[in-house]
Amino acid sequence: MSTPIILWFRQDLRLADHPALNAAVREDRSVIPVYIHDEDAAGQWSPGGASAWWLHHSLSSLSESIASKGGELCLRRGDTLATLKELCAETGATEIYCTRRYEPWAADQEKSLHESLKSEDIVLKRYSGSLLFEPGELLTQGGSPFKVFTPFWRAAQTKTIAEPLKVPKVDWSNAKNSDELEDWSLLPQKPNWAEGWEQFWTPGEAGASEQLQNFVDDAISDYSDARDIPSRPATSRLSPHLHLGELSPRQVWHVAEQQRRNPSIPQAAISKFQAELGWREFSYHLLHFFPHIPTDSFKEQFAGFPWVTNSEQLERWQKGQTGYPIVDAGMRELWQTGFMHNRVRMVVASFLCKHLRIHWKEGEAWFWDTLVDADLASNGCSWQWVAGSGADAAPYFRIFNPVAQGEKFDGEGEYVRRWVPELAKMPNKFIHAPWIAPKEILTAAGVDLGTDYPEPLVDHKEARQAALDAYETVKLRAAS
Ligand code: FAD
Repeated sequence: MSTPIILWFRQDLRLADHPALNAAVREDRSVIPVYIHDEDAAGQWSPGGASAWWLHHSLSSLSESIASKGGELCLRRGDTLATLKELCAETGATEIYCTRRYEPWAADQEKSLHESLKSEDIVLKRYSGSLLFEPGELLTQGGSPFKVFTPFWRAAQTKTIAEPLKVPKVDWSNAKNSDELEDWSLLPQKPNWAEGWEQFWTPGEAGASEQLQNFVDDAISDYSDARDIPSRPATSRLSPHLHLGELSPRQVWHVAEQQRRNPSIPQAAISKFQAELGWREFSYHLLHFFPHIPTDSFKEQFAGFPWVTNSEQLERWQKGQTGYPIVDAGMRELWQTGFMHNRVRMVVASFLCKHLRIHWKEGEAWFWDTLVDADLASNGCSWQWVAGSGADAAPYFRIFNPVAQGEKFDGEGEYVRRWVPELAKMPNKFIHAPWIAPKEILTAAGVDLGTDYPEPLVDHKEARQAALDAYETVKLRAAS
């Protein structure tokens, strides 16, 4: 009788377009689905609070979907190597299939598991399934890694992206002694800060497909124009689903590509959306070739940047109490929903690194804990992009003016009113800079500045100049 294959689920919590699952099925053997909760494996990059909330619901959804097909997802907590060895001993399996991951700790883990399991005559087979292009597949003509997005994405256009795989018919086999998901304490307890998040999100493969379909039906046609307007549901909100692999980028790319046949959807909107998936690819490509990105500045001359340590200002930023409405709206959206619109992410990140000159790593860490889509590659690369220290970064002298950004992308103040309700009655003219409003306007809007809503934490002009002076030291270091 042939031995079963263990399918080790990781960041690929789906059954469709799953190359490792398909490969196991092709062997004509039964498949044991397993998820291992190894609290120590990722070190400082263990899932933050919001990601853990999502993981709980996503595992619950995967469990149900496997159960509906006659299988049982085995949940085990513990050291990954020891657990895989135990599972092999218990079930007689000698092969483990999984989807490759790219975080430096995960890539190291795969290498060492491969070696250790080999010495026990157990084979670990890794398949791609989380990216459109494997790191190294797209290189410059000279064979080196791209450091700029545009040529990277141009090179991607020359490749064909294979069609996604359908859910195969699996002969499920079970491992015994599964943990209870509830015992892993992935959900917040006291306080339950995620209360009500079900109204914003439906983690799991079915929720991901529905979200993709809704985006294609309702929003993709307007994506190029509306994607920067934070009050509008104009972007896909697929990032947390993509992060945990509830759907693959290949599925998303192809669903978007199919819309090219629909004459009511501009081709440019589809290309723009696909290019955003490209930024995700680029981030993983950078992380693979420059694994220090989440922890150290990509550009060496930033190593001595005069960052400021100011825990009080950091806390005001985290809590959405900076006195700059667009910044506060973003930080409160993040806290209340686990998400923040991309345009506003750029504004709040710029405010932290440039107006407050607090290290981008503080912002990265806060996002890591609070975002449902917290992702080592996209988060690290995006923070460095904003700070100016990353590959293909925004020029250091581009310092977002939070008032101008608010007026440009939230002209009617709808986004600010939603998340900063104490300013709800401010007229549009002053909603992004309440401190310049005449006293009678503030009184009519029921705002006592400094009591109901804070005065600005810093003066924009002064903070901008201080940031430029600090960045000058980087420029000098680069020149010397
Ligand atoms: P859409 O506009 O619908 O884009 C489709 C998909 O493309 C997204 O789901 C995402 O997977 C990808 N994508 C879009 N923009 C980017 C980008 N700039 N970089 C990488 N991938 C992108 N994204 C994360 O997934 N995880 C993070 O931890 C993260 N941290 C960020 C931190 C900062 C400071 C900034 C400025 C951006 C960060 N982003 C991060 C990128 C981006 O903000 C989100 O991917 C996007 O807002 C998700 O919303 P969406 O799914 O509606 O995007």
